[in-house]
Amino acid sequence: MATASSNAEYPAFPTLAHAIEHAAKADPTLGFRFVSEDGVPGFSPSATSEASFSYTALERSSARYGGALQALGLEKGDRVALILPANEDFVLCFFGAIRAGIIPVPIYPPLGIGQLQTYLDNTRHIVAKSGARALVTTSQIKRLLGTVQASSPSLEQVVAVEAIRESLEPLKGVKLTPDDVAFLQFTSGSTSRPKGVTLTHANLMANMRCIVEDGLKMRSHDVGVSWLPLYHDMGLIGFVIAPLAMRTPVVFLPPLLFLKRPITWFQAMTRHKGTVSFGPNFAFALCVKRIREKELEGIDLSSWRVAGCGAEPIRPETLENFVNAFSKVRFDKNALLPSYGMAESSLAVTFTELGEGMKTIAVDSDTLWAENVAKKTEPSAERAIRLVSCGKAFPLHDVRVFAEGDETGATPLPEGHVGELRIKGPSVMKGYWEDAERTKSTFAGEWLKTGDLGFLDSGHVFICGRSKEVIIVNGRNYYPQDIEWEASHVAGVRKGNIIAFGARDPSGVERDRERVVVAFEVQDAPKELDARALAAARQPIVAAIRKAVQEGMGLVLDDVVPLAHGVLPKTSSGKLQRAKTRELYEAGELLSRKGTREHDRVGM
Ligand code: ATP
Ligand code: MG
Repeated sequence: MATASSNAEYPAFPTLAHAIEHAAKADPTLGFRFVSEDGVPGFSPSATSEASFSYTALERSSARYGGALQALGLEKGDRVALILPANEDFVLCFFGAIRAGIIPVPIYPPLGIGQLQTYLDNTRHIVAKSGARALVTTSQIKRLLGTVQASSPSLEQVVAVEAIRESLEPLKGVKLTPDDVAFLQFTSGSTSRPKGVTLTHANLMANMRCIVEDGLKMRSHDVGVSWLPLYHDMGLIGFVIAPLAMRTPVVFLPPLLFLKRPITWFQAMTRHKGTVSFGPNFAFALCVKRIREKELEGIDLSSWRVAGCGAEPIRPETLENFVNAFSKVRFDKNALLPSYGMAESSLAVTFTELGEGMKTIAVDSDTLWAENVAKKTEPSAERAIRLVSCGKAFPLHDVRVFAEGDETGATPLPEGHVGELRIKGPSVMKGYWEDAERTKSTFAGEWLKTGDLGFLDSGHVFICGRSKEVIIVNGRNYYPQDIEWEASHVAGVRKGNIIAFGARDPSGVERDRERVVVAFEVQDAPKELDARALAAARQPIVAAIRKAVQEGMGLVLDDVVPLAHGVLPKTSSGKLQRAKTRELYEAGELLSRKGTREHDRVGM
């Protein structure tokens, strides 16, 4: 385990409240800038569609938002759910609550994310789990929330943020300590319903230091640019909390603006000379797919020194395609910085080496699937699989691999052996909110069991997939990502919208064997066809998928299911929900599920 670096310049804060006060002493021109959605379609580079807040103003205004929340009757330790767009209201309510000792619970807003019923169910779930007494949202969203209040016993009030803005008050001082809870961060809900991660100030301050100082070596000339949603770790901790340490200016774009027009990311990087920006793998793929040659006029990405990638599996080819497409606008391939993390570890646990770019290894797939051992091979070898290094654990943190089910946590597996990744360190949560049972089953000794499978190579973390999603066929462990990757090259498949899973035979005939199923959205699915007609019309694609997976992996698919756009279930952050897909399939509901209006999740 490495030791913490000791840069005398890095300010240590006991709590986030101290970090906000520290940032307020910055040069008054520095702070957060929010580009608003009315930048679409022109995304004019004029400043008219932007609101900026110096760190001094953020400190002052957030105190008054905190005072307004106190005036609602909320006290230290109470939870307040926040359903707000990624703008200044969110940041001010979030900081305001934290400074008042009120625990914010960010929840994603219902924008462009598909079925309202699913959204309301999820919202009810998060409100109930957190026991929020109040919910702050926009008056527009408030109207959509319908029966959420009536069906959430803890929830005493739903308040429009417009009303908060009208009732700002001085903050009544509250004493905060590092062990106090700062906020509840719900997991994405990829494998089950979102879980409420309890993060203390100490957790956040530890992760902030790792990111800003040990990982990125942020300095005064840095500029953050982010289109990431603010209700979850990469956007929230990465771009709202971490920048406070070095008073880094940050430009925020609305997530939907980026999703509709990916070039807006590059425009913001160019215009503000952004140096640090992160995105999941799909964002890099989206840029390659959607940005047109002529849009690149005037784009200059030479200032971009850290292009972080994480939150979901990283494909080497995606990042290579990104480099190939955009080195002509001076994107530096060494800026790529793969990383690994999860809500339970605040944000990140590993970063790759700054300035070194993406590092990959190739391993023999037969040995990987049959023996759970990563045996290195040439990338050009027939059965080679390439994997991206997610880097090493941060100082004071550790990542080790254990045999699944090893509850002692005493004997990690040797390097190169695939098992469950477990983590420890000061960024790791102490538990899920008021859920002692789940907390207990998530830890083995002092190690948090991530549920991710992977291995170490010279201390570098490589991720193969999630334990819950592995498909076991004849004693071999297949990772859905690998099957999806093989199949995604088939013409007619809507890339990134393909899910492989193991399932029981829905007809119940074959009971004792896991079937291997691929469900995918058809690229050009005509709206007028219903699902069954669609399936019939798409037999050539189905056949091509079977062939690709058989040839590429030696694996016979039991079922291949073509679907219309937006049918496959995804989390609010666009992650694929394989377990939910399996459930729908087994219940015979996948084919009859309606597609939703949703943002384009392209992959890989
Ligand atoms: P839930 O826990 O509710 O099922 P989730 O695990 O997707 O959802 P998050 O905490 O947002 O919720 O995501 C963390 C997970 O994302 C990790 O456990 C891992 O599975 C995946 N992940 C993060 N970074 C990477 C990466 N670099 N490569 C592969 N997977 C990654
Ligand atoms: Mg998880």
